[in-house]
Amino acid sequence: MRRRVAHAIPVTGLHWGMQRGAGMTTGLVLVAAGRGTRAGDGPAKQYRRVGGVPVLRRSAERFATIGAISARVVVVGPDDAADARAALGDLAATFDFVTGGTTRQQSVLNGLRALAASGVERVLIHDAARPFVRVSEIEALLALPANSVATLAAPVHDSLRRMLDDGSSAAVPREGMHAVQTPQLFPFARLLASHEAAETRGDTGFTDDCGLMQAAGHTVTIVPSSPGNFKLTTPDDFAHAEAMLMTTPALPDIRVGHGYDIHTLGPGDHVTLCGVRIPHDRALEGHSDADVGLHALTDALLATIGAGDIGTHFPPSDPQWRGAASTIFLRHAGNLVRSAGGRITLADVTIVAEAPKIGPHRAAMTEAIAAALGLELTRVSIKATTNEQIGAIGRKEGICAMATATVVFDANAAGSPHV
Ligand code: MG
Repeated sequence: MRRRVAHAIPVTGLHWGMQRGAGMTTGLVLVAAGRGTRAGDGPAKQYRRVGGVPVLRRSAERFATIGAISARVVVVGPDDAADARAALGDLAATFDFVTGGTTRQQSVLNGLRALAASGVERVLIHDAARPFVRVSEIEALLALPANSVATLAAPVHDSLRRMLDDGSSAAVPREGMHAVQTPQLFPFARLLASHEAAETRGDTGFTDDCGLMQAAGHTVTIVPSSPGNFKLTTPDDFAHAEAMLMTTPALPDIRVGHGYDIHTLGPGDHVTLCGVRIPHDRALEGHSDADVGLHALTDALLATIGAGDIGTHFPPSDPQWRGAASTIFLRHAGNLVRSAGGRITLADVTIVAEAPKIGPHRAAMTEAIAAALGLELTRVSIKATTNEQIGAIGRKEGICAMATATVVFDANAAGSPHV
């Protein structure tokens, strides 16, 4: 079969009238139904661990943070649902489970049929045995125009020879040659129709979906990718993967977020600072309880996941936050950070105020923040200073606070800087 491949069109070169793919609803079919007999004895390869993490889980993680994906299906062997759930861990809840067929082609078709009700416009097909695909490579596929039929493929750098039946061999020109990988991207309805037609014809020999779509008359685009997105097939591949994970230690993914807040002082009889009500001859003015310490810390936490600021999540225009205790905001930010995979290691707040004195309340403030974020007391720091009577804070017109939050993320997770 002659292969005709078109190179990826740079997104910047698109005509304005051409519909871009970004923003289209996308489904994922993660194909994990193979038995992987070439990988040796033991459990199917997608349920084995590399670097301590199941292969299927690693593959699923690569797609976990991609917002365009609105429906996920994992295709598993008839007896493998429990193994697949165990391997996926908390990500299992984000997938529908489908039983595969006797060939990869049938397994993909089963996955596509299961996705049909979701109404997705496009679909990514990915082999679970390729756990090292880069998030940036998946995003490059998704940036292609609507209706693209495309695959990741790595340029071939070795010289190529074809072995002939008579024991001799012949050179094959290397120019333009790419080793086909997954994920592959398709317009959903066209891929499903082509699969259904191939099944009706009894045409069952396709080893990948781009091959099937090319046979149906579609042009296949290549998005060049890294050879690191290799398929775990043989015991050697597993050894290579283990060595790779050991010898290229992930960069520690430690993020430090910063926050600042200031509120004016007006008439009143108390202020709330870092969750503690302190009797005072003035009050902080604001929509909520005007706790500048917790507002600054909330912003610092949101910064570590690039999630905007406190106003993004709790608009001052929303009447339900009138007089609200700011521990609600802090707890929300902590939960967002944790669900993004972060472990909060330090919450550090500096309050700048001429009065009241913070020292007598420091322990209570530390406890309030530790409780709201589920931290040990030693991971919370409260500091205070006056402004030496300089400027607006020095004239007691207001109180401000600065905060930093330190959060550590799993360096092997999707979106981490080393991948
Ligand atoms: Mg505020």
